[in-house]
Amino acid sequence: MGPSTDDPKMLDKVIEAGVDVVRINFSHANEQEHIDRVERIRNRTRAHGRQVGVLADLQGPKIRIERFTGGKVVLEEGENFVLDINYDIKCGNKERVGVSYKQLPQDVKRGDTLLLDDGRIVLWVNEVNTTEVNCRVVIGGELSDRKGINRQGGGLTAPALTDKDRADIITAAKMQADYVAVSFVRNAADVNEARQLLREAGGHGGIIAKIERAEALNNIEAIIEAADVIMIARGDLGVEIGDAALPPVQKRLIRAARTLNRVVITATQMMESMILNQLPTRAEVFDVANAVLDGTDAVMLSAETATGKYPDKAIAAMDRICREAEKQREVTHSDHRIDSTFKRIDEAIAMATMYTANHLHVKAIAALTESGSTTLWMSRISSGIPIYALTGHVETRRKVTIYRGVYPISFELSTTNHAEVNREAVDELLRRGAVREGDLVIITKGDLMGVLGGTNGMKIVRVGELGPVLNPANSQ
Ligand code: PGA
Ligand code: MN
Repeated sequence: MGPSTDDPKMLDKVIEAGVDVVRINFSHANEQEHIDRVERIRNRTRAHGRQVGVLADLQGPKIRIERFTGGKVVLEEGENFVLDINYDIKCGNKERVGVSYKQLPQDVKRGDTLLLDDGRIVLWVNEVNTTEVNCRVVIGGELSDRKGINRQGGGLTAPALTDKDRADIITAAKMQADYVAVSFVRNAADVNEARQLLREAGGHGGIIAKIERAEALNNIEAIIEAADVIMIARGDLGVEIGDAALPPVQKRLIRAARTLNRVVITATQMMESMILNQLPTRAEVFDVANAVLDGTDAVMLSAETATGKYPDKAIAAMDRICREAEKQREVTHSDHRIDSTFKRIDEAIAMATMYTANHLHVKAIAALTESGSTTLWMSRISSGIPIYALTGHVETRRKVTIYRGVYPISFELSTTNHAEVNREAVDELLRRGAVREGDLVIITKGDLMGVLGGTNGMKIVRVGELGPVLNPANSQ
């Protein structure tokens, strides 16, 4: 979300184009603007009878240069350029610019390479003293106010949560964000701390660890396990590890997240040319499709929709590419956790359901769920079969919007009679056109319906053959 999606007509088009989750980016705009945006999108999706999740993205310790007297300068190759932590933050020039990150001189040494503006400007560190980093320009060009600084190979030591992030977590809790994304995560402790702060502020959302630092890759399993979701933040990560290292890392991260029953977002520059154009390039089409084939849950747009000219068209293009890619064999077949043992009964039911569904021409899965966990486990198994999360909890409905192949349905239990509940679940799918007479559906639920973690049964039914509820007391 951003200025380009604020227009009410565009917002409606964005919803119609098929968005599942919206990102509120705390790197831009102020608290009230974010709260207003979330309220508007929730109102409009309700009007459309849809559900979107809200992802609040924390800025994190993005290290930036300060400002130039004229807004920008042009750096020439071979010249000297100084990053100065004591320099006036408004008076940068061709020779020198201010930096608010006071730790910078301690974090870099002679011989390091610093990348500015996502790697467009390259500086070689020549000499460091207590307040200045003296560099030589290796690749020059235009450099404007507040551009980011990365160190090649990683190693800037700033902790993941800044004071601004702590304040923004409280805002995220206020707006009942479904997910909070932590930028520049170094380790599992960063993720745990964010979760604790969010809970203290009364927030219920899941935590997303943005993988965008080189050192995060060394702790990746622990980070994934601490988080609910990871984001492959290709923008900053690519600057730190080099663009050529990104494709294998993306594939490895997606596989690792799925194996550990976590969700994964692939982000940044997926449709970059659509900031200005109405159609993606062929390379962008392949990038989105390949991420789906790799097994990602979500593909993300940033500037394309936040500040681009055609937000609805960018979403529509992604939507059609994802749908086509999802028909491929590698997406509909699975060898997920084929050798592992299950820890819980509900997890075992989820796995049994998917095995059955993939081998019995099942049309749809109806999971009666409280927290959505059953649908998370199910969605780790590749299958082209839609998983409907039937739940009375709005928070669960919003949470599952990001799970691949899972669709939220509002479902209130009006009875504890199992046969009647089965019938109501199937009727709901019929009403939505998700199934027809004669289709097979798997229903999962617990003996005690409405109990968290209580799923202990699956039932296979054929639509139209449920029969009358003769002896409600005995039917399951
Ligand atoms: P950002 O994160 O858009 O918040 O910078 C994503 C990335 O770095 O790729
Ligand atoms: Mn980033």
